[in-house]
Amino acid sequence: MTEETFFSEQPIIGVSACLLGHNVRYDGGHKRDSFIAEILGREMEFLPVCPEAAIGLGVPRPMIHLVGDPRQPRLVGVQDPTMDVTRRMEAYAADQARQLNGISGYILKKNSPSCGMERVKVYAAESGGHCVRKGTGAFARVLMAQRPLLPVEEEGRLNDAVLRENFVNRVYVYQRWHNLHAAGLTPARLIAFHTDHKYLVMAHSQAAYQRLGRLLSNLSKSDLDKITHSYIHELMPALKRRVTRKRHVNVLQHIMGYLKKRIGSDDKRELSANIEAYRRGETPLVVPITLFRHYFRIHPDEYMSRQIYLQPHPDSLGLRNGI
Ligand code: SF4
Repeated sequence: MTEETFFSEQPIIGVSACLLGHNVRYDGGHKRDSFIAEILGREMEFLPVCPEAAIGLGVPRPMIHLVGDPRQPRLVGVQDPTMDVTRRMEAYAADQARQLNGISGYILKKNSPSCGMERVKVYAAESGGHCVRKGTGAFARVLMAQRPLLPVEEEGRLNDAVLRENFVNRVYVYQRWHNLHAAGLTPARLIAFHTDHKYLVMAHSQAAYQRLGRLLSNLSKSDLDKITHSYIHELMPALKRRVTRKRHVNVLQHIMGYLKKRIGSDDKRELSANIEAYRRGETPLVVPITLFRHYFRIHPDEYMSRQIYLQPHPDSLGLRNGI
């Protein structure tokens, strides 16, 4: 399959609007993130959302913060603690979680009492003082609770090359999942989806891949909905796991098995040397992957041509140059 057919449709992702350069912060400024706006922006369609502006707090606006129990804090004004916008924010987030049904991911602004995904400051008292970094922004908390399968990340964590690649991969998997439903789910299509993602899932967890395979082993039309539900609830968390070099090497060696009888001994040596150089951290993942794609172009293999692992996202993003 060519890059054009693989990624013909851009995934839609929600983004905290200040990260895209919108002047929506409490002080009227923004926190534009160039990786998101310029690199991801080439391949994804953004849906900018500023929850604080959307619930009518205005720009500029008084600062707000989280107060109380870190598991269920209130969102109140810093200067005026009687200004409690918790319910308004939760209602807005619940509404957005329902409305943004077609999105394939979400990027949130770190540390924000509304948008922060984790480690947001929660103050013990309205007056400030002691705080713990154990909170989740009021908007983010409801969004993630209502859409547990949605790939979500913070812009700060996206500075980590492995987390960055992981998030983008999950966005494209989730987009394919939407497309699978739009095309009409059948047992055959679900099995094909699973087959296409075999090596991608294996890189994250061999055990998860086996559990997913067992789920599909006796698939019939009558239990399709139940199994589909279990399948995606197993798949998306499994894809969150960090993939180490060792795991990638394991997958690359499996894939090499498909070329054994098709390429000569010099080519095999070159391929092995590239995998070893990757294992030692001397080259990024893109090097052995590019070589594999080259060999599969010369020696086409229907099964391998469908493997998402060899091209989980558009090459233009360059994400495998950094891992
Ligand atoms: S962090 Fe969220 S609420 Fe704050 S300015 Fe950015 S988009 Fe708006």
